[in-house]
Amino acid sequence: MIHPCHKGMPIGVERMSQMEDRQDQHTSPDKQTNALEQVSSIYGPVRSWRVGWSLGVDLICVNSVCSFNCTYCQLGNIQVRTNERRLFVPTEKVMRDLEESDWRKADIITFSGSGEPALALNLGESIEQIRHRTGKPVLILTNGTLLHLPEVRSELCAADRVYLKLDACSDSVLQRVNRPVEGVTLEGIVEAGSRFREEFKGYLGIQMMFVHSNEKELDAFAAMLHRLKPDEVQVNTPTRPYPDSWYLASRGSHEGVDYPARPIKPLSVARLDSIVEELRRRTTGVNIICVAKSSRLTAENA
Ligand code: SF4
Repeated sequence: MIHPCHKGMPIGVERMSQMEDRQDQHTSPDKQTNALEQVSSIYGPVRSWRVGWSLGVDLICVNSVCSFNCTYCQLGNIQVRTNERRLFVPTEKVMRDLEESDWRKADIITFSGSGEPALALNLGESIEQIRHRTGKPVLILTNGTLLHLPEVRSELCAADRVYLKLDACSDSVLQRVNRPVEGVTLEGIVEAGSRFREEFKGYLGIQMMFVHSNEKELDAFAAMLHRLKPDEVQVNTPTRPYPDSWYLASRGSHEGVDYPARPIKPLSVARLDSIVEELRRRTTGVNIICVAKSSRLTAENA
């Protein structure tokens, strides 16, 4: 089945010049197509303390593509920065890759990979087909920048779990930490996230990554959590290295990485604990957990 709003072509045969920002503007469409054939859109499964064995689905694959360019991103400096949805990996290839993977070992299927999964036009179609084939629950990791689109909310509603990134307590922090594409605002994300919460019957987690520039203003974070009404809040700090450039392997667990990457200085577990306590005091009935404490050394494709 072709997704109803699928009007795009695979990125490998589309003119890359339509992208807002890129490093590989001299890569020919044929090379892109060939590159896609060399890689798998499925990776893992890897062990996650939260969800068990997690099989990764990467609907992007041949570049890093995101509407954010987070300072701590495990993919390194994002190559293609856009909030325009496109088809990157045809669903037929995703399903072929799935058949060749060790999917039966997985407890859950996680859509994450080489950027923002909601940028892929075939997200909804892929969720549907993978769930039909495997019968496994589906988790989507998103930065929320496309949740203002009704079709994206509808596609994400098909997931069992959605984890929404929320690192910023103001637009200036959003610009400093997440470095979004033009037009993205914190209020836009929270407003759309609240609407999604009303529509989504599944499990909504909020993933908060704390670094030195966003560890204050916890009142503002608490107010946003009040609006988003999540089932769980995961407080974390970056521990994965920041690659010098994009490598396909960086979408995975970073266990035994052998590519050039810079370490990132995380907050201490003690500081994260105090953030968790401060957030708990400012919210009621919200399940807030310190991820770093439980999983600092745990591999996960999140
Ligand atoms: S951390 Fe996630 S949201 Fe941020 S740039 Fe990387 S892929 Fe995008």
